[in-house]
Amino acid sequence: MGKAFESIKAGLTEAMAHAKRDPAAPRIVNCPACGKAIEWVAENRYRPFCSARCKGVDLGAWASDQYRIAAKEEPKPDPDAAE
Ligand SMILES: [Zn+2]
Repeated sequence: MGKAFESIKAGLTEAMAHAKRDPAAPRIVNCPACGKAIEWVAENRYRPFCSARCKGVDLGAWASDQYRIAAKEEPKPDPDAAE
């Protein structure tokens, strides 16, 4: 019984320790840019991204997309459009 008790006690101690640290455990999210698991904490100013690079990648994609849309509206010189 001694051995079994020790095993249960060890398991309980571990479960208690886990429960104790779980509420404080940060939420794990996946970086939208690269899919890397990151901790959702206030210290991570790039959340939900894992890094400034991934945040920049997304912003860059957005910016280039906006630029493409803007560029499409630009009047282009048309040789046939004579006044
Ligand atoms: Zn990332």
